[in-house]
Amino acid sequence: MLTRDPLHAAPRVWGEPGEIAPDVFLQPAFVNSYALRTPVGLLMVDPGFGHASQSLQQAVRQWSDAPLHTAVYTHGHVDHAFGLRAFLAAGERPQIIAQENCLARFQRYALTHGWNARINQRQFSLPHPTFPHHFDWPTLTFRDALTQRMGDLEVHYRAAKGETDDACWVWVPTRRYLFTGDLIIWQAPNCGNPQKVQRYPAEWAEALDRMAGLDAEWLFPGHGLVIAGRDAVRTVLVETARYLRVIIDQVLERMNAGQTPDEIFHAVEPDPELATRPYLQANYDHPKFIVRNLLRLWGGWWNGNAAELLPAAPAAQAQEIATLAGGVANVIARGRALLDQGQSQLAAHCAEWATRAAPDDREAQRLKRDVYQRRLAEERSLMAQGIYRAAMNDARAALDEATESSVRLGMGWKE
Ligand SMILES: [Zn+2]
Repeated sequence: MLTRDPLHAAPRVWGEPGEIAPDVFLQPAFVNSYALRTPVGLLMVDPGFGHASQSLQQAVRQWSDAPLHTAVYTHGHVDHAFGLRAFLAAGERPQIIAQENCLARFQRYALTHGWNARINQRQFSLPHPTFPHHFDWPTLTFRDALTQRMGDLEVHYRAAKGETDDACWVWVPTRRYLFTGDLIIWQAPNCGNPQKVQRYPAEWAEALDRMAGLDAEWLFPGHGLVIAGRDAVRTVLVETARYLRVIIDQVLERMNAGQTPDEIFHAVEPDPELATRPYLQANYDHPKFIVRNLLRLWGGWWNGNAAELLPAAPAAQAQEIATLAGGVANVIARGRALLDQGQSQLAAHCAEWATRAAPDDREAQRLKRDVYQRRLAEERSLMAQGIYRAAMNDARAALDEATESSVRLGMGWKE
C-alpha cells in the first residue's frame, strides 16, 4: 500500500494492516484508517466504517497498546467517521476532533435519513436502504485551524472544502507527514456526485496547492496508496489541483460568455493527459458531473430550455412524443434500432419516453431493461453505474423479473 512512483503505480484500496511508515499504522479496508504513535498516546486519523470498527480496533491493538488519545474525522462521511464504536465500547475516551461543519452534517444526516439511505442503496446497488443512525459526535471542533501539542509533537489541523464542506487535513511538520483525507483518493476527484449535496472544486484545488507548498515527505490519502518522497507527493497534489482547474476554467469561461448550462455540459472535457494518470482515473465520479456541480454552485437550476422552466409532466411529454411518432410501438422500435446500432445514449431517451407514455407496455419495459444493461456495461463511473442499474432494476421489477444488487466490492462504497 505504498508507492514512490505514483505515475506508474497500480492503485488499490484493500491491503494488509500494518506499520506503513515510522510510527504510522495503516488499515486499508477500502477506506484508509491511520494511527500515529505520539508521546501521549495514539492519534487516529479516520476510524472508518461502523461495520469495520471491531476489526480496526483489533488490528490497532495488535500493533500498539498505547491509549487512544485523539481521533480526527477528516470529514463526516460514512466511510470515515463511524468506526470509533469498538474503541469507545472498550472504555477508551479519545478527544474527537473535526472541522465545525461536521456537526451540521450529522444533523442533516439525522434529518434526511430515509433520503440518504435510498441514495446509498441506489448509488452502490445495495439490497436495502442503508445509512447509519448513530453518531459519535466530535468533542472538539475548529473553524479554520487548530494546533495540538502531543508531548513534543505538534499536530496541525487545517480546514478545507472539497468533496464536503467539513473537510480537514492533518500535518505533522517534524515528521513531514501529511494526512489528506479525501482530498486525495487515487481517483479523479469525487466532486460531482449527481445525488449528493454541493461540492467545492475551486476550494479543493486551493487546499491541494496549499498542501503542495508544505514539501511533505509522506502523503497518507483517504483511500489508496500511501505516497513517499517529496517530488512524488508534490506531483500528485499539484496535478490533482490542475485536473480540477482545467474543468473549472472551462466552465467559468463559458458561463461568462453566456452559454447555457446544457451547452457547457456538453462542451467541457477534462485534460486528456492528466486523465490518464493512475491517480486521476474516472472510475468513481465522472468529470461531467463536476461540470454540473459547478453550474449548480455558480448558477441556478434552470437548464437554458424555456419549456423546462415550468414543464408539462414527463408522462404528458412522453405521450406527445408517442403521438408524433405514430404510437408507442414506433418509439420502442426506434429505441431498439438505436440500441442495435450502438447508440445507447439516444436509445435511453426512447426507452424513457416509451415507458413513461405506456408504463404497462411490456415491450417498453424490455427496451428500458436492455438499454440500461448496455449503458451499465459501457460506463466506468460507479456513480453512473448505480443509477443505470437502478433504472434497469425498475424495468425488471415492472416485468416481474429478478432484480440485481451488486456492490463492486473491489471498490467498496464511499460517499
Ligand atoms: Zn472517503
